[in-house]
Amino acid sequence: MHNIVIAGHGIAGLTAGDTLRRQGFEGTLTVIGEDPHPTYSRPALSKAALDPTADLMDTILPTTTHDTHHTTTIHGCVTGVDADAGVVTLADGIQVPYDGLIIATGTRARRFTDDPNEYTLRTLDDAAALRSRLSTKPSVTIIGGGPLGMEVASGARALGCRVRLVQFGLPMAVQMGPVIAHILTAAATDHGVEIIDALVKSVSPTSSGLTVELDDGSVLDSEVVVSAIGDSANTDWLEGSGLLTDGRLVSDSQGRIRDNIVAAGDVVWFNGQRCPVWTSAIEEARIAATALLHGNDAPEISYQPYFWTDQFGLNVKISGPVPHEGDPVVVEGSLAERSALLHWPELGSAAAINYRMPVPRLHRLAKSATTPVSTA
Ligand SMILES: Cc1cc2nc3c(=O)[nH]c(=O)nc-3n(C[C@H](O)[C@H](O)[C@H](O)COP(=O)(O)OP(=O)(O)OC[C@H]3O[C@@H](n4cnc5c(N)ncnc54)[C@H](O)[C@@H]3O)c2cc1C
Repeated sequence: MHNIVIAGHGIAGLTAGDTLRRQGFEGTLTVIGEDPHPTYSRPALSKAALDPTADLMDTILPTTTHDTHHTTTIHGCVTGVDADAGVVTLADGIQVPYDGLIIATGTRARRFTDDPNEYTLRTLDDAAALRSRLSTKPSVTIIGGGPLGMEVASGARALGCRVRLVQFGLPMAVQMGPVIAHILTAAATDHGVEIIDALVKSVSPTSSGLTVELDDGSVLDSEVVVSAIGDSANTDWLEGSGLLTDGRLVSDSQGRIRDNIVAAGDVVWFNGQRCPVWTSAIEEARIAATALLHGNDAPEISYQPYFWTDQFGLNVKISGPVPHEGDPVVVEGSLAERSALLHWPELGSAAAINYRMPVPRLHRLAKSATTPVSTA
């Protein structure tokens, strides 16, 4: 393989390029990305970056791929691929041939309307626009009580906005289980967020903002709506290529779509499973790039699930499957004080709530069959 193209320059694309060079690939490496900024940390956008005193450019990641890996970077949008001929086409008509292709085009935020008062948060430019609007202290309705919605609610409250958050069921329960979700929801309420348990039927513009209609018929009027309702994979450019299965990009356990085409990150159902979080994008990219160079000799995907969030003064890290049932062993600290190290030994999960612990140690605790008396 002499000529590899990477479509998408998020963390998966960056990691894939880095992996190729580290593994001795000396051929031509071309990265195509439509975001005007160099690769940045998306997780930071909904956390510290909503603080108006933060420098958004601090989210830019070290670009080793471009600086030291002799990469050609094309700022542009890939609009099509001929997988048999080995060519991708860009929006301006330019064609770039490849003999190996890495698909890492991620996702885009879903939304209800095209109205400018409805915000979403996926890109650095989204963060700049949202932060600037929130700084004017509008009334805000946030739709979605997952990590993104809750982190934006936290940032909006810190900026002095009136914040209502609509979520069907307990916020954060899907991502972290009920024990941690109750703690985060109580913290949100303590910080002045009004949480409304409902489904949203529609969002429509008014003369002064937007109206959110709920399933019980009631309406919420606010100047700004932030939709944090999930994302859609950027696979439009793959339509008709023969690479999609029932509209999805689905890879094997080493990220392969074909022998010379692999995929990684939020865009792909890796091994049939979609895991749209930061550490998964990195692990998948390492494996997919290795599979492109070494085929079956690449390792199979096998990573410890890991996720973290910062909201309402709480930092929560969780390793292992989401603990949907069962009470944890409180290894240290206390749930009442919202500072604790928790273990679900039968499930293989552990969580640290406002408790300093390096991630590798949290992984070890999660995997241990018995709970240590103390980890200190
Ligand atoms: C605000 C926010 C906060 C988050 N917080 C956390 C967190 O706390 N913890 C966690 O684990 N995860 C978090 N995530 C998820 C995590 O950031 C993603 O899983 C990760 O960034 C996915 O990386 P990726 O490279 O697969 O995709 P992306 O980061 O989406 O990168 C894809 C790239 O492809 C480009 N692209 C798309 N289509 C095309 C095209 N047709 N042609 C050329 N280029 C294209 C895009 O411009 C983009 O640069 C968060 C995500 C967001 C948005």
